[in-house]
Amino acid sequence: MKYISTRGRAPALSFEEAMLTGLARDGGLYVPESWPGMSFDEIADLAGCRYEEAAFRVMRPFIGDSFTDEELTGIISRAYAGFDHEARCPLVQIGENDFLLELHHGPTLAFKDVAMQLIGQLFEVALTRRGERVTIVGATSGDTGSAAIEAFRGLDAVDVFIMFPDGRVSDVQRRQMTTPTEDNVHALAVDGDFDDCQARLKDMFNDFTFRDEVHLAGVNSINWARVLAQVVYYFTSAVALGAPHRPVSFTVPTGNFGDIFAGYVARRMGLPIDRLIIATNQNNILHRTLETGSYVKQGVTPSISPSMDIQVSSNFERALFDLLDRDGRAVAQLMEELAEKGSFTLPQGALSRLRIEFESGDCSEEETRAAIATLYKMTGEVVCPHTAVGVKVAADKRMVGRVPMITLATAHAAKFPDAVEEACGVRPELPARMADLFDRPERMTRVANDLSAIEAIIRERIGK
Ligand SMILES: *Cc1c(COP(=O)(O)O)cnc(C)c1O
Repeated sequence: MKYISTRGRAPALSFEEAMLTGLARDGGLYVPESWPGMSFDEIADLAGCRYEEAAFRVMRPFIGDSFTDEELTGIISRAYAGFDHEARCPLVQIGENDFLLELHHGPTLAFKDVAMQLIGQLFEVALTRRGERVTIVGATSGDTGSAAIEAFRGLDAVDVFIMFPDGRVSDVQRRQMTTPTEDNVHALAVDGDFDDCQARLKDMFNDFTFRDEVHLAGVNSINWARVLAQVVYYFTSAVALGAPHRPVSFTVPTGNFGDIFAGYVARRMGLPIDRLIIATNQNNILHRTLETGSYVKQGVTPSISPSMDIQVSSNFERALFDLLDRDGRAVAQLMEELAEKGSFTLPQGALSRLRIEFESGDCSEEETRAAIATLYKMTGEVVCPHTAVGVKVAADKRMVGRVPMITLATAHAAKFPDAVEEACGVRPELPARMADLFDRPERMTRVANDLSAIEAIIRERIGK
């Protein structure tokens, strides 16, 4: 299996190379050169499998010869060993044909763990085999950074540095980044906001001397291996509810288009997904694109579902590639337009296809709080604000019928206790394994919003 760039002008790579590279050299994102299929019987045979076994079968065709069967089995088994539920990603029923898919049973209580834990193990095996060591640097508004730290802590072949905006992440999020004790983990509290952190990260990747010197690597959500890991739970949940003998639908709270794109991949592979519904918060660029056909950047308005406060949905480019008949030149042209004018308009054919593949809805702050309160009253379930955005949009789109609707529950409510308590009056408790989070000592380095200051710290820490 080879991977090609959505902009058509970077070399084709193996799975391992695409994973270690992240962004293609022509600025594009890597996608498989074709979508591997699973037959009706192969999908039916997933029924009753352990999550790890299903993950192996779904991901195998994408891996090619980058990892042996034995390596992949070990990688998957280590990745999910720390999840606190036997099913790894269990379903919870909240109504007739109405389900939540809980993706928050990993170490940092958000769905990013599902992919990041796998990536950590994939990197470790690949780098050890190559005899290489990399420095992973990431910028986070909260969830991605803690998931990356949890995934890479204690691994031999990696140092991980996470920049977060000092004073602007929740206490739980900060402590998840500052309390790990391993030497290869470095939490950097930057004197700035999230955009500053992201800008410094980009500067760092453009500083080629530094980049080569420290073997800089990234694990942000454009990394193909992250999308792939997320395809698995579409299969396991659909099969648990009767697929491939009957179709299921999904509603996905999304910002960067990563999670919903994984659902699209599952459909391309043959999973009978009836409807794929995009749920956005008030930062609704994706919903507006489906409504109007124009992708127009606006400023980000902070919300109580901060992990979806995004104005450029980077993974959308992967969908665009298919919508434009895999014409890399056409994708590159639209992306140039976006960079220059802050917007582009989809050609009519692409828009019609987009509307065949996806539906969309959005959710205001007030509606998010109301959704948390209503669900709690009706079912006793306490959900996080991101999940609530999905629950609200799924309810709007509800049709009478027998197709189950699965809404992705992307974080544990205890990660956002203030917003949840304000909405429904219940303060969600951290799970027992994390109950001492607030007693553990913190360790972080404060740093100015300044490229050379940040680079100096990284050099010093890795002994360069
Ligand atoms: C990252 C995140 C999302 C959005 O994920 P996408 O990759 O943008 O689809 C939703 N909810 C939570 C809790 C997240 O951390």
